[in-house]
Amino acid sequence: MTSSTPNTATLFADLGLPQPLLQSLSELGYEKPSPIQAASIPILLEGRDLLGQAQTGTGKTAAFALPMLTNLDPKKKYPQLLVLAPTRELAIQVAEAFQRYSRNMGFSVLPIYGGQSYTNQLKQLKRGAQIIVGTPGRVMDHINRGTLVLKELEALVLDEADEMLRMGFIDDVEWILKHTPESRQIALFSATMPKEIKKVANTYLNNPEHVKIETKTTTASTIRQRYSLVNNNQKLHAFARVLEVVDFDAVIVFVRTKLATVDVAEKLSARGYRCQALNGDIPQNQREQVIDKMKRGKLDILVATDVAARGLDIERISHVVNFDIPLDTESYIHRIGRTGRAGRQGEAILFVTPRERRLLNAIERATNSPMETMEIPSANDINKKRASDFKQLIGETIDKVDLERFSQLVSEFMQEGDSAPETIAAALAYIAQSNKPLFEAETEFKPEKREFDRSDRNERSRGRSNSRDGNRDSRDNNRDRGKRKKGPHKAEDMRTYRIQVGRNDGIKPGNIVGAIANEADLDSKNIGHIKINDDHSTVDLPKAMPKAMIKKLQKAYVCGKPMGLTEPN
Ligand code: AMP
Repeated sequence: MTSSTPNTATLFADLGLPQPLLQSLSELGYEKPSPIQAASIPILLEGRDLLGQAQTGTGKTAAFALPMLTNLDPKKKYPQLLVLAPTRELAIQVAEAFQRYSRNMGFSVLPIYGGQSYTNQLKQLKRGAQIIVGTPGRVMDHINRGTLVLKELEALVLDEADEMLRMGFIDDVEWILKHTPESRQIALFSATMPKEIKKVANTYLNNPEHVKIETKTTTASTIRQRYSLVNNNQKLHAFARVLEVVDFDAVIVFVRTKLATVDVAEKLSARGYRCQALNGDIPQNQREQVIDKMKRGKLDILVATDVAARGLDIERISHVVNFDIPLDTESYIHRIGRTGRAGRQGEAILFVTPRERRLLNAIERATNSPMETMEIPSANDINKKRASDFKQLIGETIDKVDLERFSQLVSEFMQEGDSAPETIAAALAYIAQSNKPLFEAETEFKPEKREFDRSDRNERSRGRSNSRDGNRDSRDNNRDRGKRKKGPHKAEDMRTYRIQVGRNDGIKPGNIVGAIANEADLDSKNIGHIKINDDHSTVDLPKAMPKAMIKKLQKAYVCGKPMGLTEPN
């Protein structure tokens, strides 16, 4: 068992990855491997099987994608690698990651998932797709139809294996495993290790290395830690609002990549902050100059990556902002340790996107303290603060500035027209705001449901079983399948359909829910009673279900067999 603590000294170049991949990583602005990457890449490069305990947001996709890409051959035009993922969203995400990492190598990557037409998938498979990323149901269909041939498969990844189990896919996964050559390499990643997953690992993995990341648990008590749940595209706006209301001396902002340091620093500078980027590409002497400026109070904000901020000791840093949540808890502890120095009070603020919630939980566990939530200031809060600052500025100007000539100008204006003094003052205030409006319009900082994913499904399914947004989010729909919550089905709103697959075919209710939710993109709570008979099954579905969905289901497969959905007479 390899239980790794993050090795901050490791670089991608030390891991034995080839130049085209190092090139892509540098283009993407990745500075150093995350702990799961540092631990997994050497094992997978050697061709060994791996059992990794890691969740979304730790960088696990690159942990398997980079070594697997290294070991594959772009010249061989047939499926060499298969990644199984529980949902279409994850399949797409993983396929995109493969495309990004391999852009200097020339591989053909194909996501295949339920609900999408077969035509394009077949075309791509025929053209010789080499890396297939798919959901179990659709992958099974293609194997059954003979359109996906795995006899030359080099490697297989089971991503989010516990999710696949929860969604009733484990039998499908085993079926697929049995259809791959014995010689293939397997990497199995799972956030948790329930016994069913351990069983799969024991049966199919060949003497695997175990990788689990463990972390230390120390944070200074002088640091107040808060977090806010926001969407990625709202972060900058949310951060700008926070900056307006918090009383800060100096701020260090942590982002994930070198590119982001420059991007965020530019945007903050455009908003008038004295701000600079600090990353590993900036030459050492220049970095020292920036740090020196920060120490002397000539800069307000530094936007840095972990590498660039290592060992940074600037007493006046009052706030650490985790603009991007770190990939591991060790980095979090390290980052927030840049404030609260020399016995001073410090504040740490963390932005979390909904899909990173699990990482937040991991940080809370590692630091052994629940974090406070932080409301993003409303436009009203900001406007009140700006109005009060503006009034103060007027008062100070009256006190300190010789206004003789300006008073004269205003008197002349009053004599020439008939405007009241307040109206004239208001017009001047309007002019004074120049290109920065004094008052801001309200914006909602509630993360959109669309961005929610498996990481917070538990919270959601507990609290909002009858969410109105269910149908909008196929990720959600597919998710609640294993222990699905049934909606309040009234018999008169439902219709019983027949499926031509039954107990004799090994079908279980979970398979039916899985297939219907994935293929028809239907929230699983809308799936009613399921009855399994020897040679067929029945399922209750809403009468209001659109015809197009029924049509999709009529063509769908379950347990590798055509579902053959028919309406009862
Ligand atoms: P994952 O856990 O694979 O979903 O990755 C989480 C996020 O971290 C993705 O947006 C990746 O692009 C990003 N990421 C992964 N590895 C690194 C790294 N070494 N440095 C910076 N960002 C990374």
